[in-house]
Amino acid sequence: MVEHLQHYGVITSKKVSEVMETIDRACFVPDGTPPYVDSPMAIGYNATISAPHMHATCLQLLEENLKPGMHALDIGSGTGYLTACFALMVGPQGRAVGVEHIPELVASSIQNIEKSAAAPLLKEGSLSVHVGDGRKGWPEFAPYDAIHVGAAAPEIPQALIDQLKPGGRMVIPVGNIFQDLKVVDKNQDGSLSVWSETSVRYVPLTSRDAQLRGW
Ligand code: SAH
Repeated sequence: MVEHLQHYGVITSKKVSEVMETIDRACFVPDGTPPYVDSPMAIGYNATISAPHMHATCLQLLEENLKPGMHALDIGSGTGYLTACFALMVGPQGRAVGVEHIPELVASSIQNIEKSAAAPLLKEGSLSVHVGDGRKGWPEFAPYDAIHVGAAAPEIPQALIDQLKPGGRMVIPVGNIFQDLKVVDKNQDGSLSVWSETSVRYVPLTSRDAQLRGW
């Protein structure tokens, strides 16, 4: 799968291909779901695991902000796949934090991570996954060098901007039906530079009730 993504020019970074080979997607998809198909897959609760090419794109956009020792926040962590990749990249001296509002998904993501190469980081505590409303971020380990949002927000939540470190980068899908994957760089003076990487289709960043009702 990783070779395929390299062949089609989606993965150009050696680091990202190494991480995606080390964190096996098979540990993260529900039983009976094909792990290495480049498509999003249902994981229950009206949520999906993102397609591998989206995981690769987000990891590459955030690569410079996922160096050893850095802090990373994964909002809407779902299966925990990207949180595990972040944890591997920032290493035991860093911090990778997942926030997901469906408690059952948090519980299953922890089981997924325990099966994966990121298990020791979960055990040591540099990787953690929490039940919470991701629109509020996770102030405990702020400020973050990297913030990834795995669900589409109508606008960029202020709490996430506040929790981004100067020099930090956030990747967040913004919009309703038509969405752009926005890259938000916080400059050293606190101002923001925002650009759109590509058009995307993510599930909404919303309340738990709205999601379980099917929006
Ligand atoms: N990156 C994840 C994507 C999961 S889909 C993966 O590849 O596995 C998006 C996730 O965002 C869903 O699990 C959904 O439950 C979650 N979500 C939506 N709104 C949220 C909110 N307000 N707070 C936290 N999680 C949220």
